[in-house]
Amino acid sequence: MKREGLILILSAPSGAGKTSLCRELFKIFPDMKESVSYTTRTPRVGEVEGEAYHFVSHAEFERMVKEDAFAEWALVHGNMYGTALRTLVEARKSGIDLVLDIDCQGALRLKELFDGGVYVFIMPPSMDELRHRLEHRSTDVQEVIERRISRAAEEIKEARWYDYIIINDDFEVACQELASIVTAHRRKTFRMMEQVGKLFDI
Ligand code: 5GP
Repeated sequence: MKREGLILILSAPSGAGKTSLCRELFKIFPDMKESVSYTTRTPRVGEVEGEAYHFVSHAEFERMVKEDAFAEWALVHGNMYGTALRTLVEARKSGIDLVLDIDCQGALRLKELFDGGVYVFIMPPSMDELRHRLEHRSTDVQEVIERRISRAAEEIKEARWYDYIIINDDFEVACQELASIVTAHRRKTFRMMEQVGKLFDI
């Protein structure tokens, strides 16, 4: 029996620390893979096609939507983002544990349509701390920060239907919590039986 790959879905408001947590997660579990989404947004400096994203035109994205190529897709900050169904099916079939960094709308659509993913919402410790983090990131102008904060307030309301919530107050603790969730799901009996079968001939 082939081990079924884990599909880990992470969502968080901007500034909650999802990118750093993801980076740590891949250090702890180097065999986990990041799902590469499709997007209509233009690549940022240093972004390479096929690494962070597959960068496609609006026409190409629309074609994929029509052909039901996406397991989920959403409009985020004025750009389209989508996870190819094939990416999920192939990872699961080949036993690869996949991490999806997607927004709440996409995660909810996926939860309705695709069985068996593990949904984790990462929260900032408070709205004040989120504001502090966004202001100290110094990448955004004040108007963008205000937009991100009001969007975060909306996104936090969506946390209720996720399987797990991590409050990213202490980064080390948040990393340990995320790693524990992954470990628990990796140790599910149905994911262990392939290995156990090889070890004990059962
Ligand atoms: P960025 O353009 O900054 O890389 O990502 C912007 C937002 O798009 C992030 O919140 C990220 O989680 C979300 N996102 C990235 N890929 C996907 C995807 O395939 N589907 C959905 N629904 N959201 C995505």
